Amino acid sequence: MIKAIINARLVLPSGLQEGTLLVEDGQILAAGSVIPPRDAEIIDAKGRIVGPGFIDIHCHGGGTAHGHENPAEAARHHLKSGTTSLLLSLAYSLTKEAFLQGIHNIRAVMEQEPGNLTGIHFEGPYTSPKYGARSEAAWEMNQDDYVQLFDEAKGLVYQCTYAPERPGARAFAQYAHAQGVKLAAGHTEMSPAILEEAISDGVTIITHLFDAMGCHLGKDSIRSTGIIQDSAADAVLARGGLFVEIICDSRAIHVKPSNLRLALRAAGPDHVVLITDATIRPHDPSQYPEDDYRSSPDLNFNEAGQLSGSRLTMDQACRNMKHYTQASIPDLFKMASTNAARAIGIDHEVGSLEAGKWANLVFCDDDMNLIEVYLRGNPVNREA
Ligand SMILES: [Zn+2]
Repeated sequence: MIKAIINARLVLPSGLQEGTLLVEDGQILAAGSVIPPRDAEIIDAKGRIVGPGFIDIHCHGGGTAHGHENPAEAARHHLKSGTTSLLLSLAYSLTKEAFLQGIHNIRAVMEQEPGNLTGIHFEGPYTSPKYGARSEAAWEMNQDDYVQLFDEAKGLVYQCTYAPERPGARAFAQYAHAQGVKLAAGHTEMSPAILEEAISDGVTIITHLFDAMGCHLGKDSIRSTGIIQDSAADAVLARGGLFVEIICDSRAIHVKPSNLRLALRAAGPDHVVLITDATIRPHDPSQYPEDDYRSSPDLNFNEAGQLSGSRLTMDQACRNMKHYTQASIPDLFKMASTNAARAIGIDHEVGSLEAGKWANLVFCDDDMNLIEVYLRGNPVNREA
């Protein structure tokens, strides 16, 4: 039976438009000024915004579940907050055994009940040991290891983060790219020249811009010129044309407000990709006074006190981005859905309200407060 979502303010590729969305067999049949068929099941959106479900391409877990240990529960946690497509990230800090077990666990869920679980993001293991929480755990680059990782994860990996300045990185990048994986530069201090090299090897995404990124001149930058310059983040924004992941927490700790606005202005609303980088840590925000940023409910700190990912959900990331940049509703949906789909090459299936794509939907108000989530045409039980 056809479902007709009427009285909706649809977030279409052309912008906001009042109209109707028709859904059949979990897919969008039509969106816009369409008349529902007489026998359609009518769903009244009551004037709310209906946009494409969120797509999070960088996430380590959710609720009480680590993504590599309990991917089904982690994915479920984020689905309730509107993430209808999710890549679970396996990080450089995992041992080889845990990395392989993570691949195995995610594959097991995807073969049974994929739901919103879309695949894997390899965040490393070949990142710079200088940048990121527990960064010293980054692996030595070894061909036998990476061939094994990609063999184990065949068909599941959509994105791979690496530091292009590391020895052996070009051979690795070319291998990963040949596997059909989108390459992301991150946890890096690449110079503008190395960024160009990385782009020629296939890099199209930048992993959490401004976070875990340095300057290739290191401290000499300050010694020799008095200022920090040629940082990897500057090189990325000056270059343009790359998808830039942004972690936007409520206190703007990961990316300060001026840099959120800079990223949006320089990369543009078609290339910013909001992510959660959500992790599970035994951090308790309620232990800190309100004026201490560690009291923020959407940040995470590891045992060593290092900022270590977030507790974000995508709806919260949108509200934060709206707060700091005044981005419009259509631009927020680009940053939280459309651009991510384009970045990892799944935009033929999801990421916009267009005929033939999955009816993955979020219903929200003008402040991006979530009201309802649909996965493949069916409402998600957000209480369970
Ligand atoms: Zn991460």
